[in-house]
Amino acid sequence: MTSSVADRVVAEVDRAVDEIVQFTADLVRIPTVNPPGEAYEECARFLGNHLARAKFDVEYFVAEGRPEHTPRYPRVNIVGSRRGGPGAVVHLNGHFDVVPAGDGWTVDPFGGLVRDGKIYGRGACDMKAGIAAAIFAAEAIERAGVALPGTIEISGTVDEESGGFAGVAWLAEQGRIAKGRTDYVIIPEPLNVDRICVGHRGVYWFEVTTRGRIAHGSMPFLGVSAIDGMARILDAVYAELQPVLATRTTAVPVVPPGARHATINVNGVAGGQPVDGIQTPCVADRCQAVFDRRFLLEEGFDACRQEIVGLVERAVRQIPGVEYDLRDLMIVHPVATPEGSPLVTALDHAILRVLDRPARLVASPGTYDHKHVARIAGVPHCVAYGPGELELAHQPDEWCRIDDLANATKVIALATLDLMGVHAA
Ligand SMILES: [Zn+2]
Repeated sequence: MTSSVADRVVAEVDRAVDEIVQFTADLVRIPTVNPPGEAYEECARFLGNHLARAKFDVEYFVAEGRPEHTPRYPRVNIVGSRRGGPGAVVHLNGHFDVVPAGDGWTVDPFGGLVRDGKIYGRGACDMKAGIAAAIFAAEAIERAGVALPGTIEISGTVDEESGGFAGVAWLAEQGRIAKGRTDYVIIPEPLNVDRICVGHRGVYWFEVTTRGRIAHGSMPFLGVSAIDGMARILDAVYAELQPVLATRTTAVPVVPPGARHATINVNGVAGGQPVDGIQTPCVADRCQAVFDRRFLLEEGFDACRQEIVGLVERAVRQIPGVEYDLRDLMIVHPVATPEGSPLVTALDHAILRVLDRPARLVASPGTYDHKHVARIAGVPHCVAYGPGELELAHQPDEWCRIDDLANATKVIALATLDLMGVHAA
């Protein structure tokens, strides 16, 4: 792009900073708490009305038939599109659900307070600032009088925090985000303003139930303890598996560094009689535990699961008479943006131009809606890039710096134009 086009777009973002801040604060004041999915429809309409006024075509996608879509908590998604020339279709997606406020706040979590160069509130960082950045990136291009060579789409979706099945997965299943229709997807999640997130590790949640035989607790040798069986499994997880996982390192740039390795966490264990009730002398006949195994792209799901199945089987066999079930609860395959993706190049150039420092490529220790874009929609060119600091997400007194918000807006605007063929000079 000629210098003057980029300069004009950047100048329009600078001129709009108060508006962007106001818009973000207004979004924070809509308490879209998930669970259970409060105020989704109100938030979708707020975004839709704004985009309609900005001359976007607006469509609503209600997740009819999904079990979490109920009359009390409707799952309403919104997509706005602004069509220009026949160039690339760039889709900017933000989830508008937020996690519950929790304790420890010194400000109103839904007050939208602006103070000392920061916007405060639940969702300020994750990721209502990101939605504002997407909308005002498109707006800055329009206000700069740049003829749009392609199509900008902006979606606000639900339930990312609970898996995104009625949100981005739904849009992908409906074909609204799809290979052949959507060229590039940017998800402005808070990954720090100079970092481009190119994917995430895999997730395997599973539940193990051990079963024994009840007997009098004064003669435990007459029964079979399900807790003994579970204890052997936990022993094997800690003594055998964890040290091995710690030696496996991915080439994907996952942050923080500890998450470059494969990991396993025990989410919960329950067995025998409830410990807060009246006690009777009984051998535990049932014990249950849930595990969270994060696996690497290089490991793959099948090998990851086989390893667990073998480990549980060997461990349980140490206690004769214990039986067990292993049930899969959730499987998310790892995703990675293809190397050399034009999307990464465009953001890289825009970050250098706006921030005057090189971008860093990272991958997420958790997961985000990238998985649905890659796996269901089949669109490989997807990244997360947006304002806000990753570490502040879900914390009390969550905030986003106004500087970061403005800079991310500029980066998204310039990268969008770049992807449509308007290259930086
Ligand atoms: Zn998020």
